[in-house]
Amino acid sequence: MEWSPGNRGDIEDLRGRSGGRAVPLGIGGFLVVLVLSWLSGTNLFSLLSTDSPSQSVGTSGEVRSTPAEERMVDFVGHVTKDVEDEWTAKLGSRYRRTSLALFRDAVDSGCGFAQSATGPFYCPADQKVYLDLSFFDELARRFGAPGDFAQAYVIAHEFGHHVQNLLGLNENATADRRAGANSASVALELQADCFAGVWGHEASKPGRAGAGKVQVDPDDVDEALRAAASIGDDRLQKMTTGRVMPDRFTHGTSAQRVEWFRRGMETGDPRSCGGSVATH
Ligand SMILES: [Zn+2]
Repeated sequence: MEWSPGNRGDIEDLRGRSGGRAVPLGIGGFLVVLVLSWLSGTNLFSLLSTDSPSQSVGTSGEVRSTPAEERMVDFVGHVTKDVEDEWTAKLGSRYRRTSLALFRDAVDSGCGFAQSATGPFYCPADQKVYLDLSFFDELARRFGAPGDFAQAYVIAHEFGHHVQNLLGLNENATADRRAGANSASVALELQADCFAGVWGHEASKPGRAGAGKVQVDPDDVDEALRAAASIGDDRLQKMTTGRVMPDRFTHGTSAQRVEWFRRGMETGDPRSCGGSVATH
């Protein structure tokens, strides 16, 4: 995959605010710990953090980073811009640009407090994509899916949720109370995989690198397919519990995730992803 640095326009960098040794509690958590400390007679803040309580409540600070991490931020910035450019081209004024919020360890999002263990997510309330870069290490080490196109797929999937939100495609899922493999929420996840593939299709067109855009090479595609396969519900459930429980599926099986990503990748047409998507 080819890409160029210097495109961080759509990134909101919260790493300095959320990272470091301090445990980000948010004001609610701060009060809870304060009350517990008071009840137990122990300063629980001292157990949580080496910093003083006032510093642990979301103060903004300098980002402690490495050159490798900064290169990763450049990469995320370029992919984000590219994904948003392509959706703007496809949907015109119906697409509204948003931002990708980078955080470390934990973040106070428009959808509440979230920790890195949640994985990357989209918050419909503030319309932002949230990502902790450490997820890419997880993807490579724990899930066996390294590579920059695998990472780009994750980002494009989250922006797929933004597209669903803008087009009102997620409304049915909110009304549908079914859980598991046949639920509307699984269908939404698979559609987001397909939307990620639609971006992959555009990014694979020759001659993009020369125009300063992301260039996906044919060899890269396997990386994204491996990523899609590695985070299927059946595989994750086997890893964590040793069993497959379709009634607890949230994202679809590995085979389904691969199938829907591939569908978007081959057609480049969001209308092939299910739901009623009219293009520009
Ligand atoms: Zn998703």
